[in-house]
Amino acid sequence: MKMSDLQSIFGIERVSDTIENRLAYSRDASNHSGDCLAVVWPVRLEQVCALAEWAVRENIDLVPRGAGTGLCGGATPQSSVVVDFSCLTMIDSLDVERRRVTVGAGAVLDALNRSLEPHRLCLPVIPSSHLAATIGGMIATNASGLRAVRYGSMRDWVEAVTLVDGTGRVHRLSGEALNDVAGREGASGFVVNAELRLTDQLSQLSLTLRAFEDTASLLTQRAKWLDDSRLTALEYLNCHAAQVVGLPARAHLLAEFEGEVGAVRKPAEIAEVWRRRDSLGPLLSHQGLSISEDPRVQGDGLSSLLDWLEAEQIPAFGHLGVGIIHPRFRPGDERIARLYQQLEAWGGQISGEHGIGLKKKAWVSAAYRDEIRQLKAIYDPRNVLNRGKLC
Ligand SMILES: Cc1cc2nc3c(=O)[nH]c(=O)nc-3n(C[C@H](O)[C@H](O)[C@H](O)COP(=O)(O)OP(=O)(O)OC[C@H]3O[C@@H](n4cnc5c(N)ncnc54)[C@H](O)[C@@H]3O)c2cc1C
Repeated sequence: MKMSDLQSIFGIERVSDTIENRLAYSRDASNHSGDCLAVVWPVRLEQVCALAEWAVRENIDLVPRGAGTGLCGGATPQSSVVVDFSCLTMIDSLDVERRRVTVGAGAVLDALNRSLEPHRLCLPVIPSSHLAATIGGMIATNASGLRAVRYGSMRDWVEAVTLVDGTGRVHRLSGEALNDVAGREGASGFVVNAELRLTDQLSQLSLTLRAFEDTASLLTQRAKWLDDSRLTALEYLNCHAAQVVGLPARAHLLAEFEGEVGAVRKPAEIAEVWRRRDSLGPLLSHQGLSISEDPRVQGDGLSSLLDWLEAEQIPAFGHLGVGIIHPRFRPGDERIARLYQQLEAWGGQISGEHGIGLKKKAWVSAAYRDEIRQLKAIYDPRNVLNRGKLC
């Protein structure tokens, strides 16, 4: 691989193969790492097109990367050039009346939302990684998060995407065609910018934090709250997770509402409850439980999943309103495989929001692999994008 080729596309400043950068980009927030040949930082669409054409000529794998907060090794290189979108952060247009914004793929969610504050608008999809996660990464993983019960996932908020495919062609995708990019983990192309729908900022929030004696009563309350149109978030902590943040050793539900529904109403107190909830992931990681899974189960299987996690003494929390739970494990815990095996019987999926990446590729169904192969035939026939991941 000739660095001079990349330098002629990006200029000397926006290409690096220093050992420091190759190491820094050898992994994402998962525990998967691989060989990064070089890093490039595009600032213009044409550079991304020229890069894809070069990769086809040289037969080199390209790995799109946002903030690298992905938990499955999706942005981990495997003898690849990493394409870091963090310089493409521009808001190209904002239409306050139509509630639309067009923004570069590297824009960070919180930064975008801060710039929308004066207009009382926001992008309401809030993964817990909101301080760092980028719009491109959120589209590629179809991220969801704390308010998924009200606002769904990223796919629901994307109006159109400018995509550069694996041959360097530019596509403007909208409508049904967005399914070719949302949640496809960079297998079909690079999101360069996106037109997003916005909504009003929430106001006058309140919270209820309640402990439960057993799963049945907890799920009964869940069903009641799900029927309340004022509900904006419905989070879960099992008894093992609750203890970590100083709560009694019982399963808890944390429900957020618009309006004065919940018992906690003062903004400072609400912020404190959310701060405690947000501290859970880092605290569990600190205890060595660094592996976060994201099974999604709806219906009857949900109580089987929750009971199994409690019985195995596995700390778990998550977005129970939409059936996504985050059990925490130590690396190498054999119960992770057991969890995946049981999910089929419980009518669940192996990933509710984090994606597949390298971590779960062995668990992908033959039907999904076929779907990705068909997508690759259209958008990446020479297989230069995130090679060896989804298929
Ligand atoms: C503490 C923590 C909490 C988290 N909480 C949540 C949560 O609540 N909900 C949730 O959904 N996720 C969560 N995540 C996972 C992660 O933050 C999300 O998947 C997020 O959307 C990834 O964004 P990113 O910019 O970091 O993408 P990256 O990690 O850089 O990339 C993720 C995937 O997207 C691809 N990609 C990145 N940019 C582009 C682009 N421009 N074009 C095409 N493909 C691209 C990459 O190749 C990779 O496959 C959490 C992660 C952490 C570390």
